Amino acid sequence: MKQLKLYNTMSRLLEDFEPMDPKHVKMYVCGPTVYSLQHIGNMRAAYVGDMIFRSLKYLGYDVTFVRNYTDVGHLVSDEDEGEDKMEKGSKKEGLTPLQLADKYIKQYESDTKHLGNEEPSVKVRATETIKEIIDMIQTLYDKGYAYITDEAVYFDTQKYIDDKEKKGFTAYNKLNRQKLEDNISGAGHGSAETEKKKHLHDFALWIFQYGEHISHAQHWPSPFKTEQNPEGDGFPGWHIECSAMSKKFLGDKIDIHVGGIEHIPTHHTNEIAQSEAANGESPFSKYWLHLEHLLVDGGKMSKSNGTGFAIKDLEAKGYSALDLRYFFLCAHYRSQQNFTWDALDASSRGLKKLKHRIRNILKDDDTNNEGKNKSKLDAKTNIENYKKQFDEYISNDFNTSGALSTVWDILNDDNISRKEQRDLILSFDDVLGLQFKNLSVEKFDELEDMEEYINKVKIKVEERNIFRKEKNFKKADEYRDEINKLLKETNFVLHDYPDGRSAIVPKQ
Ligand code: AMP
Ligand code: ZN
Repeated sequence: MKQLKLYNTMSRLLEDFEPMDPKHVKMYVCGPTVYSLQHIGNMRAAYVGDMIFRSLKYLGYDVTFVRNYTDVGHLVSDEDEGEDKMEKGSKKEGLTPLQLADKYIKQYESDTKHLGNEEPSVKVRATETIKEIIDMIQTLYDKGYAYITDEAVYFDTQKYIDDKEKKGFTAYNKLNRQKLEDNISGAGHGSAETEKKKHLHDFALWIFQYGEHISHAQHWPSPFKTEQNPEGDGFPGWHIECSAMSKKFLGDKIDIHVGGIEHIPTHHTNEIAQSEAANGESPFSKYWLHLEHLLVDGGKMSKSNGTGFAIKDLEAKGYSALDLRYFFLCAHYRSQQNFTWDALDASSRGLKKLKHRIRNILKDDDTNNEGKNKSKLDAKTNIENYKKQFDEYISNDFNTSGALSTVWDILNDDNISRKEQRDLILSFDDVLGLQFKNLSVEKFDELEDMEEYINKVKIKVEERNIFRKEKNFKKADEYRDEINKLLKETNFVLHDYPDGRSAIVPKQ
């Protein structure tokens, strides 16, 4: 097996990957907060978890991959203050938090399936893990790493820092490399009466039904009692959820922890402190992998400025979620990637071309090409070299664009037979996830013909758009009738957008 190298955020170095058990990898990925439709930035995070899972399996490891759904406790502000995202979302949509979570988990699972993601080994909701969360907080309390106030049960960061040498803990700010005072923002200091917290950078493990959270919809009794809350009624903090879910399914220590870069300063830093203090094991995770963000038109994605596109927005314009996957594969997961419609269009064309070439090797029989120019021996060397090249790319911190280039190299090589090309590319698709195996020749022929047909109709749509721009409505109407006639037998329709554009889109 090729030695896998991973960039570990903890050391800021490319390190040789050596899991605790040489054959088995324990991996945890921080999943989505399921309060709204997930945008394509969230889809990049979903793709990265899946791509790492696939790559590890391809490289020969057994992998237990746990991914969570945050369905309680993630407060709206990055400073861990304000309302719970689930509460806010459920009020907005007139649903209970449970209904809201069900709705958006279903949507997320449908989107990630379209994206070609495999199922993780375990998917778990925070609300299914309340017992384990409470047990972990209790352990922290019993060991002196937690204290109770009217507002919340807090994690005592200073005690963790003081015990570092004695207990061999990871230094509190080793992952984020920031000063302790920078942990104040992020620790949740708004409504909490600060004089009741021992230190400003202490963060909440359990938030009571009290103060601004008095009418929190999701709450559970707990052993952490206060005068105002004799039942200990409350809900968990976001960070402890991941520590508890990881422990429940993977044990005290894990090999790989994955998440977005925004989790480095607070969420992952606090996960480490809680897990190590509660479990008495260090390091909590051997490797920390962080993915960079997806930008749109060079800026931050946001729903409010209309750039929070979702898979359904792409599909409405005639693109598929696999076009997006191909686009993701073209960049390294640790680089920012800039989404534009032109870039997606280029990826879509690239994938189409690739499928066209693969269709040929799927349907051609082996007699067509048995290594035209070279001896069998040379062909064998070529195959081995391509496999080596692909494995090297993947083993080098998941260089997916390099891996894709190997696929093209193979397709352009006349010296190896169709069968050999086919076998190699289909095995590489275990990593790429572009679903080449699902392309039966018949299905593909149909698709190709349809695409050609639609492309012809698209030219008519463009001509009609010129008439519309010139306000020649008579001609535009004639063209519309003609286009609709042409589309009658297909699954597509002509759609006029309010801004004057029109396009062929799939029938809803
Ligand atoms: P959230 O639902 O906000 O908890 O986010 C779910 C996941 O999507 C997290 O792992 C985030 O790191 C990730 N994420 C959010 N925005 C982006 C983005 N623009 N690009 C890539 N990942 C993102
Ligand atoms: Zn997490």
